[in-house]
Amino acid sequence: MKPRDRKDELAVAQDFRRQLQDRVGTRAPVKPREKIQKWFESDFGILSELAAKTLGDANYEGIVESLKKEVAATELASPHDEPLTRTILKNLCEEVEAACHEQGIPLRSGVAFGSTASMATEAARYPVFFTEASVITFSLGFLSFCSHASKLIAMSLPHKPAGTSFRIYFDIDSVFAHINANKDLKRQWMELIGAYAYGSGPTIVPSQGISGAPALTRIQLLASMERFAIAHEYAHHVADHGKRERASAEGDELGKLEEYEADFFAIRICRYLESKETARNFHLASGTGGVLLLKCLECVRRARHILVHGVDMTASHSHPETSARILAFDLIDEFLCEPNQQLYKHARDSFSAVVDRLWRGLQPLYVRMHKSGLRPI
Ligand SMILES: [Zn+2]
Repeated sequence: MKPRDRKDELAVAQDFRRQLQDRVGTRAPVKPREKIQKWFESDFGILSELAAKTLGDANYEGIVESLKKEVAATELASPHDEPLTRTILKNLCEEVEAACHEQGIPLRSGVAFGSTASMATEAARYPVFFTEASVITFSLGFLSFCSHASKLIAMSLPHKPAGTSFRIYFDIDSVFAHINANKDLKRQWMELIGAYAYGSGPTIVPSQGISGAPALTRIQLLASMERFAIAHEYAHHVADHGKRERASAEGDELGKLEEYEADFFAIRICRYLESKETARNFHLASGTGGVLLLKCLECVRRARHILVHGVDMTASHSHPETSARILAFDLIDEFLCEPNQQLYKHARDSFSAVVDRLWRGLQPLYVRMHKSGLRPI
């Protein structure tokens, strides 16, 4: 067979991605580009308001304007691609690809990246057989979950003024004193995890307004969660993971190892990206963004398990237990100097403990929902 070049292989991967989208179908309405452009024109006020809610006091008009131009210029590789999601994903994936390129990490024949209309929280990389290319997809539910969760986490952290700036407290006692003082936050956590576990998170979790210092924290958290997730999937592509005989009696040990490897790669890429940014992002550098994403996704999986079976699960089936993965982040810190090594570990452990305590509070509520007959879609 005549060897195909990189471009041909990427085209095969794009075709495979379209087939994967077909399998999911188009449950969420696909907005054609003209419709989005029109929406930008007619609803500029609403969009600016939405951006202001998200970004607080930042220069949101400029951001809406530049996003509008980017959406207009984004090529849609598949009829199922929704232009706004495609643009956001393109920016994120190209950033990780540039980081790989600058660090001399070969991307083989490349990646056909994109989203599916699924409401579940799925991030996946598929090898494209007989090629050196991969497909990386994120479900609508996954992207929307990062957005909702980053906002609620930021709102749950006490921010106190300190000179011209502010200090964020993330030790377990301060965070719970803040959450317990605000009934709305407890309800929102129950709704967020419950709605995504039920299977319709993107459509039923309302968009909350956020402003001031928490809005800035939210942007940093969202950026670090998304970059961690994308770099993790790129790791599976770079190392060509997943080509093995599945599931032995001892469990999929090689599969677990690949998850650790992908996390290591993701943290390193995140640290590299952070070092290039003009504004520092603690969550991107320390790995707390990744920790929070993994922990919150674990809550969704466990809540779903409860809604189906009535009881909590002890370990994840396809990924090594989340706490073991997070502990392994410590090994990557060996390359850091003090005080960062201690600081980063302390922050990751603290955030991890916060989500564990949150889960202990939420778990009985989902058991009660199961008892009253609620089952996921
Ligand atoms: Zn993985």
